[in-house]
Amino acid sequence: MKYTFGIFCMALFLSSCGSNTTENSEETTAPLNQEEATNDVGIVTVYSHRHYDVDKKIFTDFEEKTGIKVMVKEDKASKLIELIAQKGDDADVLITVDVARLEQAREKGILQPIESEVITGRVPDKFRGSENHWIGLTKRYRVLAYSKERVDPEELTTYEDLTDEKWMGKIAVRSSDNTYNQSLMASIIANSNQDEATKWAKGVVSNFCRSPKGNDRDQVKEVAAGRADIAIINTYYLGKLLNSENQAEVDAGNAVGLVFPNYEDRGAHVNISGAGVCTNAPNKENAVKLIEYLLSDEVQAMYSAANYEYPVVEGVESSELLQSWGTFKEDDLPLEEIGKLNSTAIAVFAASGWE
Ligand code: FE
Repeated sequence: MKYTFGIFCMALFLSSCGSNTTENSEETTAPLNQEEATNDVGIVTVYSHRHYDVDKKIFTDFEEKTGIKVMVKEDKASKLIELIAQKGDDADVLITVDVARLEQAREKGILQPIESEVITGRVPDKFRGSENHWIGLTKRYRVLAYSKERVDPEELTTYEDLTDEKWMGKIAVRSSDNTYNQSLMASIIANSNQDEATKWAKGVVSNFCRSPKGNDRDQVKEVAAGRADIAIINTYYLGKLLNSENQAEVDAGNAVGLVFPNYEDRGAHVNISGAGVCTNAPNKENAVKLIEYLLSDEVQAMYSAANYEYPVVEGVESSELLQSWGTFKEDDLPLEEIGKLNSTAIAVFAASGWE
């Protein structure tokens, strides 16, 4: 289904006809001046761990198109979840960048099931919680960035290949307290078992080029500097490097190619950034409207063009850069399973010596 802004506006108009919109501006602790308080379409308060420029633009566009004022509180996911659980009565929408966080928020009871056919119709089942407490907004793959100079990608086709001793001292990756790694580990566990996953992790650890540190971009820089041959990274970080204003970062990005692993069997591990409506949302209708907007064709394309993420809505084309990375197979595992295996993944990391 093509969901354009025209349809979005019509849906918005129809839904606002049958609702009492004044309730949307009641009882918020967000800064609100008198003019806003009397505005008939109200506000929506977003707690977001997405700290990207494109999100600001998207919220401004939403404000212009609907008149609904978007109040944003940015912080780390763990901090936001704790804040909402303790005293975040003004929180309408939680946005985070890993399914483990979304599941954690659901377990804490701070999210409510989303009731919107627009939303459930646009997000495939595997990218939603089974009761729609959270939904995916964008997709990101955790892939292998290899040195174009030193690695033949034919020799590196699966996550399992990373344990081959020919890569001893060649793998750069960030630490295991990072949720992207934890979700990758959860997918390894779900696709095998805890013992196999521990063996895999030990094998990868024995091939580290150094103790894990830094972010995903730093791992690519290790490869570009010749201190590693393979980096484990989320796809959009390569987009960020290639589009950086810093030439050294562009050069680092150009030094690597991407393997989307396991393209001949289960497919590449996929994660999401996602959103949920908060349990005590004072502006629930506006929360749903905002999330519907984030799933519109326009916004899905913006995420892809400006932040190098893959659209979660089927039928929306990813940006040219992402298309240039080729087609590949994606792991079919429901993301909820990955979220639920988070503590097991942390235990496997501890048992394997992955710092
Ligand atoms: Fe990230």
